[in-house]
Amino acid sequence: MMESTTITAQAPSAPLQEYLLPISSPYDPTKNLSPVTIIARSFAFLDPDGEKVGSRDLANSIPISPSLRRVPWPSNLPGCRQNKHWRIAERMTRDLFEAIYKHAGQTRDASNKLPLQLYEVGKQKIHKEAELVGTAVKSTAYMFPDASPARAGMIAQSMLLVFLHDDVVEKSTRDAGSTITNSFMTVWKQAQSNIGESSQEYIHSLLTGIIKEDPILGKKLLEGAFSWVDHTKEYESVPTESLREYLDYRSRDIGADLLLAQAAFAADISLSEAEKGIFDKFIGFFADHISLTNDIYSFEKEWNEHVSKGAFLVNAVDVVRRLHNIPVSAAKQFICEEILKLEQLLAFEIDHLKQDVGLNKAQERFGEALALCLAGHIFYSATNGRYGGADSATTVE
Ligand SMILES: [Mg+2]
Repeated sequence: MMESTTITAQAPSAPLQEYLLPISSPYDPTKNLSPVTIIARSFAFLDPDGEKVGSRDLANSIPISPSLRRVPWPSNLPGCRQNKHWRIAERMTRDLFEAIYKHAGQTRDASNKLPLQLYEVGKQKIHKEAELVGTAVKSTAYMFPDASPARAGMIAQSMLLVFLHDDVVEKSTRDAGSTITNSFMTVWKQAQSNIGESSQEYIHSLLTGIIKEDPILGKKLLEGAFSWVDHTKEYESVPTESLREYLDYRSRDIGADLLLAQAAFAADISLSEAEKGIFDKFIGFFADHISLTNDIYSFEKEWNEHVSKGAFLVNAVDVVRRLHNIPVSAAKQFICEEILKLEQLLAFEIDHLKQDVGLNKAQERFGEALALCLAGHIFYSATNGRYGGADSATTVE
């Protein structure tokens, strides 16, 4: 991975140190905003110094203290965790990359489009590959800390497929039906309806590997990924009449169903529809939190690309700015406060479910897996180097 300034964590004990992913360029999108009062700490099991952390199964992960790692943390969630198996996930993600090259070749294939930089030679290509692998691995490591080595690798591979598709579609929405990821989806759909043997051997073996790992959760993972691909084919019509309307759209855009499937696959949690149904409200807050967190962290990057290259802008900060005719900084402040409010709502809702409705062990773990995913998403967003980077000090106003 391309790391510019590696931060040395202050004092994690030696056995944990060997598992830590190096981090670079911590970014704080809330830097110039007025501080928001943090009302209460919730989700105590996320506290890296808490008593409860010790009783949890940490076979696959280590607790992360954002402050110890000097990562700005504008959140009520007390910490996050990192998957230990990121090196394995990295290797599996690179293997998938190699297989994709073999399949799609280095030539431009109209039905297997890859991000443009991957057709270049030299530095640009190497940089893009490192960025794609790095983001797939980091997002998996922080958002899905419970995954076993094999599952962490498979989730990172699914992330790579998502990023490969996203990168092409971001530049041209018309290409959503002709990316390498779409090609995977076609193979999958053909296999589902038993249309002959696939000539695309490697795609087939990757997909069946995920199903073999877990027939139910693996299938849901693939379905989640491919329903997201389908959603990107409707990119043009983003509702911006209200923040609520935008967030309902955005929940499909960020692949909320895929994230839920990845979380269940990572933590090996099978819930019946009824068992999952009581989480509807919690999942709604979860999806909004993911959307708004992504939007606040990626705003500067997306805004700059919008202004300089006319890139399509899908971002809550911009929606709020235009709805209320307010400056960007005020819109950012509003979004930050919304994120903190969502954390309160998530805490109230999980307490209500535990106390008034009653959760079985699997349901309790599901709620925790989603909280881990949210906390990990913040840490990933703050440290992935794509949003802040060298420009993290610049603002649009
Ligand atoms: Mg974004």
